[in-house]
Amino acid sequence: MTIEFEGFGLSEKTLAAVKDLGYSTPTPVQAQSIPLILAGRDVAAIAQTGTGKTAAFLLPLMDQLARNPKPKKRKRNRGGQNRIAQTTEPRTQESQQTKGPRCLIITPTRELAQQIDRVATSIAKQTRHSILVAVGGVGYNHQLNSLNRGVDILVATPGRLIDLMDRRALSLTGVDVLVLDEADRMLDMGFWPSVNKIVGQAANRKQTLLFSATFSSEVLAKTKSLMNEPAMVEVSHRGDTAELIEQHIMPVEHLQKPDLLAGMLKAKGGKRVIVFTRTKSRADACAKRLNREGIRACAIHSDRSQGQRERALADFKQEKVDVLVATDVLSRGIDITEVSYVFNYDVPTNSEDYVHRIGRTGRAGESGMAYTFVSPDELSKVREIENLINQVIPTYDLEGFHYREGRIIPSSNRSAKKKAVPAFSSRRSNSRGYRR
Ligand code: AMP
Repeated sequence: MTIEFEGFGLSEKTLAAVKDLGYSTPTPVQAQSIPLILAGRDVAAIAQTGTGKTAAFLLPLMDQLARNPKPKKRKRNRGGQNRIAQTTEPRTQESQQTKGPRCLIITPTRELAQQIDRVATSIAKQTRHSILVAVGGVGYNHQLNSLNRGVDILVATPGRLIDLMDRRALSLTGVDVLVLDEADRMLDMGFWPSVNKIVGQAANRKQTLLFSATFSSEVLAKTKSLMNEPAMVEVSHRGDTAELIEQHIMPVEHLQKPDLLAGMLKAKGGKRVIVFTRTKSRADACAKRLNREGIRACAIHSDRSQGQRERALADFKQEKVDVLVATDVLSRGIDITEVSYVFNYDVPTNSEDYVHRIGRTGRAGESGMAYTFVSPDELSKVREIENLINQVIPTYDLEGFHYREGRIIPSSNRSAKKKAVPAFSSRRSNSRGYRR
């Protein structure tokens, strides 16, 4: 039996929003989470970006929000009913409550917040909710003014949220639903003390939803007390990689990586490509080199300003730039569709980042390709990745590329070649063996 959006009991408006988003069938995380969220349950979902998790929480949340209009006391101040909010007098608990959101979504990065905002804004065209994105790197005025007018849904990163709380610009006492998005990432990035502080302020909430790409014992331990008998939703296991992604490793000397990348991009057509590097300076150098080769590339990492990052993403989406060269700031959470190739210019230090990086390609039913450049000192990291994803990644050599003598090839690849080939298209692998 196929599950349809129509079967969830969503309102006509929400179903119209689903249609506007262009979704015809729920993804597994949506099929599992939407009924639970509509039933008012706390939910802990293990789901990576790319699974449709954003709509999995926004659709039922905004549907419920529309069904249960704001209680009178939280109505926006109109016609001087609530004078306190318009004066400079210290705000009382009651007046603060008039300004707080009903739904709070905390997410680790600005890009993720903007991605959530895009889906929420699209749904709100039908449900008429007001949404505010509160992230760092931009001025306070718009955020303060919007909070003052009152918002239904607040999407925020922990740092800016704490700032706004410290400025007494918002109260979280009226939050009914709290969403913690990418909880594992927030933990990794050291945001947990802030998250705890924020969650403590949203003490009147009726529902807590937690989304995390992985559910390590640390995530479990830290989040257990925040939820009330949560229903567990699991659509992917730790280390799962999208089945549609064809993965290859390309053994190469460290110094040959720039030439190999340029060669691969020229051979493959090189449009809608993301290249991941280990460091910001390597991302800059790599983008520069590609530009010198006549390939339109742009670096994106945390040293670039918010404006520069947004412009790079917009240029990429509009195909003014063909190659984005990024550090891991981009590997999680960025919703760029139709990426044809992901290149791991450097093997990621953290194996789980490999899964996130290659997840940029092959999204929402499309097939994708991921190539990982491996220098001899990176071989052990490849083994860790292979252990995590529980498969051997076959080797690929670029025809006609002059590899230096003495390249070191992973032995596991040689012995496991037979095992690896059926899962991937073998025609691309070097059938003559692994050394040139
Ligand atoms: P997310 O995991 O929320 O980042 O979503 C990943 C991608 O899947 C986004 O590009 C969404 O637009 C797309 N998506 C989400 N739900 C569906 C659906 N039910 N059908 C098709 N695409 C979807």
